Amino acid sequence: MSDGRGRPKWVDFHCHLDLYDDFERAVRECDAAQVATLAVTTTPKAWYRNKELADQSTHVRAALGLHPQLIAERSSEIALFEHLIPEARYIGEIGLDAGPRYYRSFPDQERLFERILRRCTEAGDKILTVHSVRSVSKVLGHLEKSLDPAKCRVVMHWFTGTASEARRAANFGCYFSVNHVMLKSPRAKALLPSLPFERLLTETDGPFTEVDGRPSRPGDVAGTVLQLASLYQETPERCQRQILANLRRLVSADPAADHAT
Ligand code: MN
Repeated sequence: MSDGRGRPKWVDFHCHLDLYDDFERAVRECDAAQVATLAVTTTPKAWYRNKELADQSTHVRAALGLHPQLIAERSSEIALFEHLIPEARYIGEIGLDAGPRYYRSFPDQERLFERILRRCTEAGDKILTVHSVRSVSKVLGHLEKSLDPAKCRVVMHWFTGTASEARRAANFGCYFSVNHVMLKSPRAKALLPSLPFERLLTETDGPFTEVDGRPSRPGDVAGTVLQLASLYQETPERCQRQILANLRRLVSADPAADHAT
């Protein structure tokens, strides 16, 4: 495309576009600002509308999700989720949450997570965005057990694990999507430079995070790129290019591309 509009400039690999008051405007903003945005969902019922808007957009892709924090009320939606898996290349938000409010549903969360991972492996060519609050090691255990990394790829969203868990995830082939709130945590800042630069993506997790006292929007990832550049001692331009290259590699049709590098 001669005007370059078809090429993204930025990446927001985890954003709840359908939870903004103005979903359609949020999608148009991603296109106008050329932000390659993964519109994650929290329930499979949201898939249809997200898919419809993503299909009309240049830079937005829809993901099929069942959020671990909703499993207590929505575990019955697993049937719809499984029914929709063949239509979806992107899967999320899925994962585990062992925070105090969700701990009671943890056994159900594990059971459904496991089931989703197996279905993804059977179907092949899926890209997952995975939540792992207070459960990084459990999440990695399920991935190692039930997801074939030669067939599917994983992005750890808002990763809060230790350096050794980060190595374990990277060895499995995981990417890491980083947001500006994570970068406020001294622990995350210390961990980040040990994550491989060629596995980094940016995200907002909007509207659940804020920038300047208002909900983040996908274009805010530009600020995160600046912060990452300084942490990795790179120029912002090089950091921006690297993140775009990482996205292209992640979504390329050949999962073996990752294993060759
Ligand atoms: Mn989220």
